[in-house]
Amino acid sequence: MNRNRIFLSLSQQSGFEQQYIQEALATHWITTGGPNVDAFEKDLENYLGNQAHVGALSSGTAAIHLGLILLGVQAGDEVLCQSMTFSASANPILYLGATPVFIDSETETWNLCPLALEEAIKDRIAKGNKPKAIIAVHLYGVPYQVEAIKAISDKYNIPVLEDSAEALGSSYKGQKCGTFGDIGVLSFNGNKIITTSGGGAIVTKSKELKDKAVFFATQSRDDAPHYQHSEIGYNYRMSNICAGIGRGQMEVLDAHVALRRKMHEFYVDLFKDIEAVTVFTVPNTDYFANYWLS
Ligand SMILES: *Cc1c(COP(=O)(O)O)cnc(C)c1O
Repeated sequence: MNRNRIFLSLSQQSGFEQQYIQEALATHWITTGGPNVDAFEKDLENYLGNQAHVGALSSGTAAIHLGLILLGVQAGDEVLCQSMTFSASANPILYLGATPVFIDSETETWNLCPLALEEAIKDRIAKGNKPKAIIAVHLYGVPYQVEAIKAISDKYNIPVLEDSAEALGSSYKGQKCGTFGDIGVLSFNGNKIITTSGGGAIVTKSKELKDKAVFFATQSRDDAPHYQHSEIGYNYRMSNICAGIGRGQMEVLDAHVALRRKMHEFYVDLFKDIEAVTVFTVPNTDYFANYWLS
């Protein structure tokens, strides 16, 4: 084995993870949902601010899937999606039998191009198929052009699903990524800025919408004394053990962001005299990137 291997993302722990896991084991909360899940959601809500409501799920992909359902996406619909992204941004469109329409990126943030987006919306409307949702991504932790995308979303009344899987800790004009879309998505996969081993979260603007997401994520079991299900359910809730890791990770989130940003500085400095190389950097000081990947 090559001992000089540099890992893309090696998890760093705060030490509190074990304490929260131990608590879960000692109290027999070894299940989906539970005290660690509730507390992790609170931690995330406090961190994101902006009156965010957070539902902890088994993955970011699950959050995108439920997010699209909450936005009313159904079989036969079209969903506009950033083309330069990880495949998980788009896969849930196909889970629903809907069709992705991929939109190119601009060069400032490498994310959804507002001009291409509007052109596509006009084209689809002219052809009689108004898109149901827009999936915008903060790729590599760099915020997309939040205001321009929101303006188009408002103009055509098409909601935004904000894929913030890589951008926990990033912000635009001081507002945290994950809170811009009609629905926001976070990931705590092993390679992300913080990890729960595997996990994700849906961020909503109301408690009702969060509760609905958690309802879907826990098999859509109706409020009845017996087993009764009126809607299709999913098994997408976060485990109470994983949430214990998440609670511990929240203690080191800002430190992780600072380290990634330092790594970015390192590359900027390393390549500063090499004309052929530019290190991808935010366009101006409105943008604060976690630089999850440089
Ligand atoms: C990681 C990632 C996802 C999926 O998150 P999981 O928790 O791994 O399911 C979705 N979108 C982007 C941009 C990602 O980087």
